[in-house]
Amino acid sequence: VYAPLFSYSLLTSLCLSRVFSLCNPLRFGILERCKELVEAGYDVRQPDKENVTLLHWAAINNRSELVKYYISKGSTVDQLGGDLNSTPLHWAIRQGHLSTVIQLMRCGADPAVADGEGYRALHLAILFQHMAIAAYLMAKEQEVDGPDCNGQTPLMLAAQKIIGPEPTNFLIKNNASVNAVDKVNRNTPLHFAVLAGNVDAAHILLEAGASVDAENINVSHHSAGFRSESETYFSRRLCDHLVFLQFLLCTATFGSVGAIVELKSESWLLKGILLACVIGVVNLASRNFPSAAFQTLLPASALMASVFWMLVTWFLWFFATAQVLFTLNATALLYYYLRTCRTDPGFVKATEEEKKMNVLVLAEAGCLDPRIFCTSCMIKKPMRTNHCFQCDACVAKQDHHSVWTNGCIGARNHHFFILFLLSLVLMGAWMFYGCLTYWSTHCALHYEEQGVWGVVSALVGCSPWLLSVFLLAFYHTCWSGLVLLLQLYQIAFLGLTTVERMNLTLHQRKLRQSVSLRQNPYNLGVVRNLASFFHLRCCGLFKPAVIDWTQQFPPGRDQHVFGNTDMV
Ligand SMILES: [Zn+2]
Ligand SMILES: [Zn+2]
Repeated sequence: VYAPLFSYSLLTSLCLSRVFSLCNPLRFGILERCKELVEAGYDVRQPDKENVTLLHWAAINNRSELVKYYISKGSTVDQLGGDLNSTPLHWAIRQGHLSTVIQLMRCGADPAVADGEGYRALHLAILFQHMAIAAYLMAKEQEVDGPDCNGQTPLMLAAQKIIGPEPTNFLIKNNASVNAVDKVNRNTPLHFAVLAGNVDAAHILLEAGASVDAENINVSHHSAGFRSESETYFSRRLCDHLVFLQFLLCTATFGSVGAIVELKSESWLLKGILLACVIGVVNLASRNFPSAAFQTLLPASALMASVFWMLVTWFLWFFATAQVLFTLNATALLYYYLRTCRTDPGFVKATEEEKKMNVLVLAEAGCLDPRIFCTSCMIKKPMRTNHCFQCDACVAKQDHHSVWTNGCIGARNHHFFILFLLSLVLMGAWMFYGCLTYWSTHCALHYEEQGVWGVVSALVGCSPWLLSVFLLAFYHTCWSGLVLLLQLYQIAFLGLTTVERMNLTLHQRKLRQSVSLRQNPYNLGVVRNLASFFHLRCCGLFKPAVIDWTQQFPPGRDQHVFGNTDMV
């Protein structure tokens, strides 16, 4: 009876190779067989020569029922063993076995025990990037800034050793201290990030307010290289007004380009020099903006600058035409645009206490699964909720993250977005109407005699400014028209959001089956879809389904398949 177990223990401690695992009752979970051997007299506490016990092997292979059994038979929960002198809990964490971690913690495993390298449980979870386990440990009151034996906090470890933003972001969101220092060299997490050349982590730490002036024991400002990128008082003030400044910059650029081509000068050389000057000034100005913010805000401010010049052109060139209707349209455009930007799209919020409860309840029910739990926000996701990485939040019934509004489109502002698109398309139509009327009365256009090229050069000669505004309007009408059509199709005929439609299409392609997208639980038929979307009642004619999507959770454990990816 002893022989097979002992030889197994020896073999596996010599080599973790899967070749040997075939003769391994632990790996393939013949629970009964293991029980039989133990009942026959094998001592579960008996370690091999590296101090590795049966409990270690059960933990590394995610056999939580065996873990429970061995502990009930007297296994030492926090037995240190193996090359790294670690406990079964450490082994389970390294492998990312959440259910075994939960089982071990239930049986009294101590996450504060350090392994041979000095790491405690939370450090290992961060080091191996098992966020669900890290969330569980923190919910179990593990200190987020608890140092390991070298005095390093988990955040320092993430900044030093992990390429990629997730663990650093996760810890900062859970209030890890960005200015903690280690015992040995008095390094902050930022020092670790800079020393390791971890640019991602350094950016996140700076954004979270890490001090660039912190001195370590060698009094070296390793972080000085990042000073130019860090927020000084001036650039912070600048950021507050960034949207407005960028709007002014775009407006000035469009305006000056238009004015230069409109110049009453025959000299293209002069125009060329002036245009080069404008490009130079724009280049200089844009260098003083923080580059990431500049890029994310550019589409929104360019759109608003275009709308501004369309309005100016309308009032200066086509003043006599349809004043009231146009003004109404323009007002609606600005109103719905601001409402889209300013309305909370449906961010899912939770208090610290709720987050902890969520993690514990979900973890112990075995549902800490990315479809229903967001490890970035530490919340249980309502149905149809997606995590937006640009907004860094979970958004209820998220449709997409719009570059034009620089924000998310979700449950609460989706209808404003549709109305904004509609107003933009109508505005484009007014501009076409205005331009065509102006050209037909003020320019001599004879398509038959001049041909296409002749007409174009006549238009340029007539008013280059008007032609550029026409092209601008054409561009914005094209994209907004296409997006509007697609959105209306999804809303009215499918009852789905963009994310859901894309996921379903992908899913179908993977499974190679073609199920109609219209057969989904959210499709209520065209009329009810539209009525629910726009909250139309029409004096009781329609009954819109008014649902708060931030509060809709799947009723049972199995029903989360109706969540995001696996719907239908
Ligand atoms: Zn989230
Ligand atoms: Zn977003």
